[in-house]
Amino acid sequence: MRRPLIAGNWKMNGSLALVERFAQAFTTAELPAEVDIAFMLPAPYLPAAQRSFAGLPVSLGAQTLHPEPKGAYTGEISGAMLKEFGVHYVLVGHSERRSLFHEDDTAVLARVRAALQAGLEPVLCLGETLEEREAGSTEAVVSKQLAAVFDGLDESERRRLTVAYEPVWAIGTGKTAAPDQAQEVHLALRQRLAQYDTTLGETARLLYGGSMNKDNAAALLAQPDIDGGLIGGASLQVGDFLAICQSA
Ligand code: PGA
Repeated sequence: MRRPLIAGNWKMNGSLALVERFAQAFTTAELPAEVDIAFMLPAPYLPAAQRSFAGLPVSLGAQTLHPEPKGAYTGEISGAMLKEFGVHYVLVGHSERRSLFHEDDTAVLARVRAALQAGLEPVLCLGETLEEREAGSTEAVVSKQLAAVFDGLDESERRRLTVAYEPVWAIGTGKTAAPDQAQEVHLALRQRLAQYDTTLGETARLLYGGSMNKDNAAALLAQPDIDGGLIGGASLQVGDFLAICQSA
């Protein structure tokens, strides 16, 4: 009943040529009808992607947005601007935003609200560091990150989010969480969501992210509480990303 989502997070990578390569490959590829596919692109590529992906069963996503709808925020991009280019999803709270751009839980909530206000679907990213895992505080850390956003939303808003569990130690390191390790955290997150609302616990889409690739995707996606993937490095290779989409 939960539709899987496979989302490629290009981060600050790619080119117009890569957008065109993906568009061509996806035009002829066999895409699984029961899976949602999204490309979280650097903002300058969105207009080209909107044109080149037109008619394909894929959605566009952005990697961040500013919490304010408009104003004197040089260099920033609003949710309404993203909407104009057909964007459906926006990542919020990615660990790189949290650590490199100092976005704390308050900033994450503000961006989730802005995304909802603009009619976008936020993909809330959260996850523990290696030190936190080794200290045995994984569940406490991810529950706190989850509550920092979900406590600030009402019931209908909560149902519009996708959550991505991305252990920081697994991002870009080639160290994937073992399927049962990831499943354990996903189950804990789902149980935490069910405390808000039992329907939310059942319907919330929970993605795994962190060195997911064509070889480990199927085992991760087979876990009962893993509903998709947020893929960084492997989403830049047409063949690898297609293989992950097909294994969902
Ligand atoms: P990775 O990145 O797949 O390269 O580990 C995932 C992410 O940061 O979303």
